Amino acid sequence: MVARADQTTDPGLQEELLQARRGTAFFARKLNELTDGELDGGSLLPGWTRRHVVAHVGYNARAIARLVEWAGTGVETPMYPSIAVRDHEINFGATLSPIALRNLFDHSAVHLSVEWRDLPDRDWANEVKTIQGRTVPATETVWMRTREVWIHAVDLGNGATFADIPEPVLERLLRDITSAWANRGTDAGLVIRVTGTDLVFGDTNAAHPVTVSGPLAGVAAWAAGRTAGAGCFGVTAAGGTEVLSDVPAAPKWI
Ligand code: ZN
Repeated sequence: MVARADQTTDPGLQEELLQARRGTAFFARKLNELTDGELDGGSLLPGWTRRHVVAHVGYNARAIARLVEWAGTGVETPMYPSIAVRDHEINFGATLSPIALRNLFDHSAVHLSVEWRDLPDRDWANEVKTIQGRTVPATETVWMRTREVWIHAVDLGNGATFADIPEPVLERLLRDITSAWANRGTDAGLVIRVTGTDLVFGDTNAAHPVTVSGPLAGVAAWAAGRTAGAGCFGVTAAGGTEVLSDVPAAPKWI
């Protein structure tokens, strides 16, 4: 008999799986609001139509499912053979018929969800490798997907904003992005402050920092390189006590 519930008994992981599936449902909702014709329209990502976004999110689910299979079987199956293959796949996917594109999203999401569901507790710590070459436990695949579905739902450009993304996801995203900057040293002189909270990130030891501050959703959108269309609202920058007229562009994230 096929299990109907997740095999993992870890409450933290169950909560994370819920967040990933909620994000998937949110992406599905925004996708369903688009007519077939509207899929040809531009997304918030430069050079990408909505078709590219849907194809990418579909193939991403397949790629992450390969990592979960790897964790379960021990047989090494990379996300993609190479970045070139991944990019080629997205460009090909963007040419699919609307029905095929929608099926790609639906089927790949269900497939990934089943792979997660059937992974037993003992295998979640098994290590796999991301396309960036990072070695991570299988549990990380849940966050990798969570991030993708929530952000790319906004990128579809039909009304979703970062304010639709749950706060725990936004906070983790901001931590991810700012720690990537710190690892590369691209955050020199930059402090990020979330108003109404005690969340502070970035180069907090800088003598004369530029401080970017705003509400969590706005600051997360800014940090992810998304602008007003994605809900980057209420974000201001200051150098010392002087308010800057322009908020600097965030360092590159990916
Ligand atoms: Zn992506």
